[in-house]
Amino acid sequence: MIKEATVSRNVPIVAVRGSVVFPHTDTLLSFGRSKSVNAVNSAFQEDRVVAIFSQKDPRTPDPGGEDLYKIGTIATITQMMSTEGEVHALVRGQARISLEKVISHEPYLLGEVVELAEEKADSAEMKVLTSQLTENFKKAINMGKQAEVMTVMRLISGEVAPVELVDQIASILEIKVSEKQALLEELSLIKRTQKTLEYLVNEVGVLDLERTISVKTQKRFEDQMRKTMLREKKRTIEEELGEDEAGEISSDEMTEFKVKIKKAEMPVEVRKKAKKELKRLSQMSPHNPEGAYIRNYLDWLCDMPWNKYSPNDVSIKKAQKILADRHYGMEKAKERILEFLAVMKMKGMNVKPGKNGESQPTILCFIGPPGTGKTSIGKSIAEALNRKFVRVSLGGIRDEAEIRGHRRTYVGALPGRIIQGIKNAGTKNPVFMLDEIDKIGIDFRGDPSSALLEALDPEQNREFSDHYLEVPFDLSEVMFIATGNMLDTIPPALKDRMEIITFPGYTEEEKYHIAKKFLWPKQLRLNYLEKLAGKKKIEVSAEALKEIISRYTREAGVRDSERNLASICRKIAKLAAEKKKYPKVIKVDDVRKFLGPQKFSSQIAEKKDEVGMSTGLAVTAAGGEILFIEVALMPGKGKLTLTGQLGDVMRESAKAAFTWTRSHYKLLGINKNFAQNLDVHIHVPEGAVPKDGPSAGIALTTALVSALIQIPTKREVGMTGEVTLRGRVLEIGGVKEKVIAGHRAGLKTIVLPKDNKKDMEDVPEVIKKDIKFIFASDLDDVLSVALKSWPPKQNK
Ligand code: ADP
Repeated sequence: MIKEATVSRNVPIVAVRGSVVFPHTDTLLSFGRSKSVNAVNSAFQEDRVVAIFSQKDPRTPDPGGEDLYKIGTIATITQMMSTEGEVHALVRGQARISLEKVISHEPYLLGEVVELAEEKADSAEMKVLTSQLTENFKKAINMGKQAEVMTVMRLISGEVAPVELVDQIASILEIKVSEKQALLEELSLIKRTQKTLEYLVNEVGVLDLERTISVKTQKRFEDQMRKTMLREKKRTIEEELGEDEAGEISSDEMTEFKVKIKKAEMPVEVRKKAKKELKRLSQMSPHNPEGAYIRNYLDWLCDMPWNKYSPNDVSIKKAQKILADRHYGMEKAKERILEFLAVMKMKGMNVKPGKNGESQPTILCFIGPPGTGKTSIGKSIAEALNRKFVRVSLGGIRDEAEIRGHRRTYVGALPGRIIQGIKNAGTKNPVFMLDEIDKIGIDFRGDPSSALLEALDPEQNREFSDHYLEVPFDLSEVMFIATGNMLDTIPPALKDRMEIITFPGYTEEEKYHIAKKFLWPKQLRLNYLEKLAGKKKIEVSAEALKEIISRYTREAGVRDSERNLASICRKIAKLAAEKKKYPKVIKVDDVRKFLGPQKFSSQIAEKKDEVGMSTGLAVTAAGGEILFIEVALMPGKGKLTLTGQLGDVMRESAKAAFTWTRSHYKLLGINKNFAQNLDVHIHVPEGAVPKDGPSAGIALTTALVSALIQIPTKREVGMTGEVTLRGRVLEIGGVKEKVIAGHRAGLKTIVLPKDNKKDMEDVPEVIKKDIKFIFASDLDDVLSVALKSWPPKQNK
């Protein structure tokens, strides 16, 4: 390398990081480091000349001479601007220099530099190289290489000297700093041009590749679009052609569907619909997933009992016999059912199937606690009428679609529960039981009860529309029976359409008979114990049955009793299977052995009389129940606290009771201002069961009075009745349920409002024999029966 050294000079040095400044280029540099700022400032005040060297390692914060590349560029500052702590300088590179030595380090690096001369270049070769360089540069720009417009225009004009052209292009190449530095250090113009061209060609290659990739991606996207469009077109064409090829159903499946449609005896409209769907199916490509939905739909259409009836013969006699044979007691319910059937017969409903006659409202509604025979009576009705029986639970339904089905556009759509039930029945006149009608809810997905109304309403249900089925189905010949535990929660609009029959629960006596006559034989049969080795049937003694009913269950119905009997049967079956000894007659001892210790040991009559307690009677979803009310007094300021999940009405009764005691302090013989230094806490245990209603009024007052005058109540006295502020006792509902519950709990006396005397005719005779009834017209009547002594001695 021939280095023609010229004069050396001392110039302020600035170190740059991450870039290389070339001669013949304009570069905007920003400096923040104090030494660089000082150097630039100083130079700007003198001859504006600086020496620019790149740092070998950009991370060195305060580079000395040894941290810089030895070859750099001498440049003049053409413009300068200072912002906060930073200096921006536009510099124009002049020539390559080498750093001979650093003269001083403070306040900036001052170095002795020598300008380096260019080596001579062969002009012919240079010409070829420069023209290639220009060509490739143009290509790169066309392919999207970023560069300043002015620079680009100058460079491709062909009027730029080769040295300048090469340096300019080198400065904007996308290469590493070390590679740029190497280009700067190359003093041979030819070699520098060759190297630069090499890099540029490389860059063009990369740009080309990038472009092909993006073009390909674009193309792939467009291809997809095209295919989708073609597919759509094809569909349309197929549809068009399909119109012309109507009726060309060939495959086995199609014939099968055709036969099914014929057999289904659909109404005209429905048949049309089915044929239309079948046609759509026949025109569909076998790969079309929609085909499966159409098949499913066609299956539903064909499986509906459009014209299938159970033969209709309402024989009141037969019905009467079945009800009498299968169900103990329930005379009132049976009577009403028979009346209902008689009207059905008179109206000649279904005498001629499908005839468009008028029909009566066919909705019976059985209300009562679980296990009181609602379902089994429903089944008996179906049997008496010779009809099919289906049962659908409405419990927890909130969505209208559960009743009326989802539209077919839904994935996995199905008809609603009504249509499903009818399909299961297989006839269009089944006895259709809608369980838990008191538990349907309402929310944003629509009101299921209104859909239900439409199904039940004889005016509308001739053309019941299910969203899935799309065609109307005639429900007018279905006999609907709704069941529920409580009347309160049934939507009023539904309640209006139904004929309510209450199942109030059984007395212990009735349970005993049901268990003996029905439940035990049924369980023997179900557990294959009926004819055990041809011997006599296993029996249960009366005491054992009573023990099971009163000490192992506490319910209004007979479900738990049945469960316990089933459990005994299974245990006997196991013993018999193991060839072990088993009892031929189940006695009380065997019950304990089979069922374990008693579950409900103490009855109310066995409890102690206490101060501040009373026994109330209530009706819940599980039937009648007894409630214990507890009152505690403590020093305070007349505050009344109520606990035990009491509803608003019950809270009000408690307040009324408190007020009554305050206004009758004289009668009670207590201090006029007793409330000023007492707090009252009323609690009704079994907090998990919500309690409400006004009928606990007299029980609340009795407990409070007992606590205030410190006279115990008689625990075996139960009571129910609303109370006014003046102490009058008002009529309440659910007498039969409450009385049965009181009887079950072993109460000896029950206090009822005077106006409820009329309800006594519903109360079974056994209960009237066991319990003394007191009819109260005011609180005095109640307290004199319920408290151990009344009226209290004065001046207490
Ligand atoms: P619900 O539908 O009211 O909950 P179920 O009809 O399921 O009650 O009755 C439960 C069981 O009790 C059934 O095995 C039923 O046969 C029996 N049962 C209920 N009441 C009677 C009755 N009065 N006579 C005979 N069996 C009864």
